[in-house]
Amino acid sequence: AALRGDDDQEFLPQMPPFDYTPPPYDGPSAAELLEKRQRHLNPCMSYFYRNPLFLVDGKMQYLFDEKGRRYLDAFGGIATVSCGHCHPEILEAIFNQTKKLQHTTALYLNRASAEFAEALASKCPGDLNVVFFTNSGTEANELALMISRLYTGFHDIISVRNGYHGNAGVTMSATGQCNYKYNVIQSGIHHALNPDPYRGIFGSDGPKYAKDVDEIITYGTCGRVAGFIAEAIQGVGGIYELAPGYLQAVYNSVRKAGGLCIADEVQSGFARTGSHFWGFEAQGVVPDIITMAKGIGNGLPLGAVVTTSEIAKVLTCHGYLNTFGGNPVSTAGGLAVLKVIENEKLQQNALKTGTYLKNQLLALKEKHQIIGDVRGRGFLLGVELVTDRELKTPATRETLYVMEQMKDMGVLIGKGGLNGNIFRISPPLCFTREDADFLVSTMDHIISKM
Ligand code: PLP
Repeated sequence: AALRGDDDQEFLPQMPPFDYTPPPYDGPSAAELLEKRQRHLNPCMSYFYRNPLFLVDGKMQYLFDEKGRRYLDAFGGIATVSCGHCHPEILEAIFNQTKKLQHTTALYLNRASAEFAEALASKCPGDLNVVFFTNSGTEANELALMISRLYTGFHDIISVRNGYHGNAGVTMSATGQCNYKYNVIQSGIHHALNPDPYRGIFGSDGPKYAKDVDEIITYGTCGRVAGFIAEAIQGVGGIYELAPGYLQAVYNSVRKAGGLCIADEVQSGFARTGSHFWGFEAQGVVPDIITMAKGIGNGLPLGAVVTTSEIAKVLTCHGYLNTFGGNPVSTAGGLAVLKVIENEKLQQNALKTGTYLKNQLLALKEKHQIIGDVRGRGFLLGVELVTDRELKTPATRETLYVMEQMKDMGVLIGKGGLNGNIFRISPPLCFTREDADFLVSTMDHIISKM
C-alpha cells in the first residue's frame, strides 16, 4: 500500500520494490563518526545535507544508511558508479585478483593491466590505442596536458569557461569556475566562451562560439598552442552540453595552430550518455587524447589517458611511471566493468531509460515555472531551477530545499553549477524506468508543495 502523509492524508510517491536487505549495522554511531571526521578530516569539506547522510551499504542503484533505510542513488557517487554498487561480477573480479596478486608496478608484466589496456583501446576510435593508467581524473588530465606541451613544444592551453578538469596545478588552472580554484598562478591557460545553449550569447550556434577560440589563438598566444581541453557535457559545471558543431570547428582551429585536442571524458565517457560510448562522438570528432576516470572503475580509484603511438612516444625519452597506475586489482575491476556494460547492455539502457527520464523531466518543466531548463543526454542530466524564467535568476535556496526533501523521501541527486542551482542526475546505468518514475514523482510532489 502507498504511504500516507501524516497531515493531508495524500498518497506519496512510492519507491520501487527491491529484493535486498542489508545486514544490520552494528558499528559506531553517526554522531561518533561525525565527531572523528570533524576533528581529523578535511575541514573544508561541506555536506550535501543538513545532517550528513551516513551510508553503510550499497546494492546496484540503491544505498542504505545505518538504520537500514533505502535510498535511490541518482547521483552514482558523482557519475562514478557506472554498473551499480557492489556489482557481483565486478566484486568477483576484484576479489579473485586481490587473492592472487594485489600489487605490482608497471615495471613488471601483469595480465590484468595488459588485457584491460587492449580492451580499452578497442573502445577508442581511430588510432588511439596506447594507454597510460592513472589513479584519478585529475592525474589523467595533468598527464594529457603535459603530453600536449611536450609533443607540440608549445605552452598555451585553451579550455572552456565553466569546465572542470581537476584540482592539481595545471588542471585547476584549466578549470573555468572560481568555486574550484585557489589563487595559484599558472601561465599560458586561456578560457574560451562557454558554448552554452541555455545562457550563452550565441544560443545553440556552436561554430559562432568556436570563433572565440580563434581570437584567443590570434590575440592571446604566439599563434601556436599546445592544446585544447573540454568536456563534451560539462558535469560539475551543471550539465551543459556543448552547442552542436562547436568541437568540429574548434578542433580545426587548434590543429591549424599546431595543438592537440583533448577530450575530457571523466564524466561523459563509458556509455553514460547512451547515444555513444564517448561524449565527444555526438559532435562527430576524433580527439588526439582521451582522458577518463570515474565510470571506468565503478568506484575503484582508476583513470587513464589514451592516445596514439606517435604522440605517446614523446614520453619515452624520460619514461613515465606512477606507482599505482595499472595496479592489477584496479585494472581487473576495469576489465569487468567493460564486460558488464557490454553484457547487460547498459549503454542501451542509458539511452532508452535516460531519454524516458529526460522526457518526464521536460514534462515537469511544463508544470512548474521554477524549472528553467532540462538538459543533457542519457544518464547525464541536469535540471536548472530559476526564480524567474525570463531573467534566468538562479534559485539556489530552492535547489537546496528540494534536494534535502528528496533525500528525506529516499532519492539522492547531486547539484552543481556556479550558483548551485542545477540538479545533477547521473545514476548507475542500471537505473530502471520505475526508478525514473519514482524520482520524477518525488520531485513533482516536493515542488508542487513549495
Ligand atoms: N574531469 C572531469 C570532467 C571531472 O568531472 C572531474 C571530477 O569531477 C575531474 C576531471 C577530476 O577527477 P578526479 O576527481 O578523479 O580527480
